Amino acid sequence: MIFINRDKETKKLKETDGLKSREKSQLWRIFKYNKKLKPFRLSRSKFSDFLTCKRCFYLDQVEGLKYLDSIPFTLNNTVDDLCKKEFDYHRAKQTPHPIMEKYKLNAVPFKHKDIEKWQNSRNQGVEYIHPKLNLKLAGGIDDVWQNLNTKELIVVDYKAQSKSKEKKLEGYLEDVYHEGYKLQLDFYKYLFEKNGFEVQKRGYFVVYNATKEKEEFKNKLEFTCDLIPYDTDSSHIEDKIIEMKKLMEGKEIPAINKYCQNCNYINAGSKFL
Ligand code: SF4
Repeated sequence: MIFINRDKETKKLKETDGLKSREKSQLWRIFKYNKKLKPFRLSRSKFSDFLTCKRCFYLDQVEGLKYLDSIPFTLNNTVDDLCKKEFDYHRAKQTPHPIMEKYKLNAVPFKHKDIEKWQNSRNQGVEYIHPKLNLKLAGGIDDVWQNLNTKELIVVDYKAQSKSKEKKLEGYLEDVYHEGYKLQLDFYKYLFEKNGFEVQKRGYFVVYNATKEKEEFKNKLEFTCDLIPYDTDSSHIEDKIIEMKKLMEGKEIPAINKYCQNCNYINAGSKFL
C-alpha cells in the first residue's frame, strides 16, 4: 500500500515532512511538548500500539512523528452504525435486544447520560485521568449492557466479518488476529471500574457474519448474529500503563519489532539507496 499525503479538507496533494504539526495549538498531541500542560490523552488503540511495538509508540506519541493514515473501513463502520441504532432502540425502551433473548441473558443496553460521549471514540470515550501518571486514558466503546440480576455492567464490542457458515465462529478467541479484541474488552473493563462501576467478568463480542452462501448478490448482504463470550481480565492493565509512562519519560528509543514488515522494508530498501 502506498500512502500519498493529501490535505484532509481539500483532498489536494500536500507535501509532508513525516512529522505531526508543531503549531502551538497542536502541541498537546505530542508528549514531549505537552508534559507540563495537562493530562496527556492516550486512547486504547495507542495503548495497543505500545504493546505491539514500543518504538512505533514512542516515535508517534513522544517524538511526534506522523504515523501513516488509517484506511476507513466503511462497510464495517456501517454495520457498527446500524447495529448501534438497533441497540439504542432497546436502550430507550429498556428492553432486551433479540440477541440477548436468543442467548438467554437477562440484560438490556445500559442507559446512562454519558453513553454518547462513551461511544465517541475520536475525541471522548470512557475517560479516566490517572492521578499519579497524569495520563488521560480513553476508550470509545461500541456499547455497554447491564445485567438485570446483578446490576453489573457488561462490556461488549460489535464485530463484522464474512466467513463461511462452518468457520464463522471456529476458534474465534484463539485467532492470533483477534488478540487485540480481548485487550479491547479488558481495557474497557479497566476504564469503567476506574469510573466506579461494577463490571462483570463475562463480556461479549457481538459477531455479525455476512453470509457467503448466497446464489445471487442482488445488492444485498445478509448477516447472521452471534455472541462470543469472553472472560475479561483488567488486572494486567495497570502495570502495563505504568510501564508505558516510564517509557514515555525516558530518552531511549526502543528497538524495532523484528517481525514488522514496515521497518524491515525500509531497512532493506536503504541498502540500495
Ligand atoms: S518496527 Fe514497525 S511498528 Fe515498530 S517502529 Fe518500525 S514500523 Fe513501527
